Amino acid sequence: SSANLERARTTLREVFGFESFRMVQEQVVGRVLGGQSTLAVMPTGAGKSLTYQLPAVMLEGTCVVISPLIALMHDQLRSARANGIRAATLTSADADWRETQDAFRAGALDLLYVAPERASQPQFRDFLSAAPLALFAVDEAHCVSEWGHDFRPDYRQLRPLMDAFGDVPRLALTATADLRTRGDILGQLGIPDDGLVISGFDRPNIRYTIRPRDNLSRQLERLVDEQPGPGIVYAGTRKKVEDLATSLARSTGRPVLPYHAGLPAEQRAANQAEFVASEDMVMVATIAFGMGIDKPDVRFVAHAGVPKSIEAYYQETGRAGRDGDPAEAVMLWSAGDFATARMRIGELDEARQMGERQRLDGLAALVEAATCRRAILLRHFGETPSESCGNCDNCLNPPQVLEVTELAQKLLSA
Ligand code: ADP
Ligand code: MG
Repeated sequence: SSANLERARTTLREVFGFESFRMVQEQVVGRVLGGQSTLAVMPTGAGKSLTYQLPAVMLEGTCVVISPLIALMHDQLRSARANGIRAATLTSADADWRETQDAFRAGALDLLYVAPERASQPQFRDFLSAAPLALFAVDEAHCVSEWGHDFRPDYRQLRPLMDAFGDVPRLALTATADLRTRGDILGQLGIPDDGLVISGFDRPNIRYTIRPRDNLSRQLERLVDEQPGPGIVYAGTRKKVEDLATSLARSTGRPVLPYHAGLPAEQRAANQAEFVASEDMVMVATIAFGMGIDKPDVRFVAHAGVPKSIEAYYQETGRAGRDGDPAEAVMLWSAGDFATARMRIGELDEARQMGERQRLDGLAALVEAATCRRAILLRHFGETPSESCGNCDNCLNPPQVLEVTELAQKLLSA
């Protein structure tokens, strides 16, 4: 209700010190306060923790948080306590079990962090019965799914535990964008299908451009000239990486380094470190580059070829503009890229072919689209965006219908 949300905003300011909700958080917090079980899918860094910590402060009873890593729990504990929230962990690494149990029984805990192993212990169920519960929060909820990338069998014990407290709402949290995993989480944790909230995938400062490759060197030169800041150019093979790095260095005068799995490990580490420290370097790389690199000021990500799926495209372009300043994502494709990709898929195990083909088809649809690129991306992740973003090639320069048909034909003949 609106009174709830009014109180939530006050708590947000007074307890957490934040001026406003991020849009996604408000929706999730509203549901939790209303007692509705929810699966919230929000990207990393979007602020998932707040969506259970804030209701935990507002609601009667304790919020039980299931979290897969002890180190993660202790970080959360420190920051919650720094905000004056009454929080504790119950793990094998804790010496103050007795105190924590007494505090819980006395109703003096807002948050109780536990590891998933605890869920399968009958004593733990008895223990939880001793005081009122406000909420079950399941962090990193994709761990419950075998489709996810991090399956934890102990997460399967959470459902029976939570079912034993049937009227306590559940909030599952994850950043994973895979459809099948999401469906699995809902089923495995007993959250109704209409409890799914997905949001926050938009990266409004990234301008998306997707165009055919006619003269790669010239197209990349132009991009590099227009964007004096650091950038990444993805190419499909080691040889292409080496060739492009050499030609771009020569033609643009910018510092350019290559990165691919064929380079010695020390060389890769050194090139990466140089890139991270640089304010104007262009890194030409295979997709081996980028995972876990923390560089907020990447001004452009270019693809000299096609990524293998929309997820891959989103993840790779997402390395641009993390500081929120304007950034470019430019894909330069050719019909030959799709032909090569289809050929590679044909060489895979039979079992993997269909999935990979569907993923490539999804990407092809994005490439040949005449409508807003961002809207297609966001719909892919389950969001309901507006028709037009005003910050992609198709919104800025609506393509002529004729031209689009030509492109579609090129793709079909690939
Ligand atoms: P996630 O679990 O989704 O990756 P976290 O819960 O760890 O994200 O939060 C990421 C960061 O965002 C934290 O530093 C947190 O304090 C901050 N944050 C969360 N909500 C807000 C908000 N409404 N306003 C400003 N900062 C926020
Ligand atoms: Mg988190």
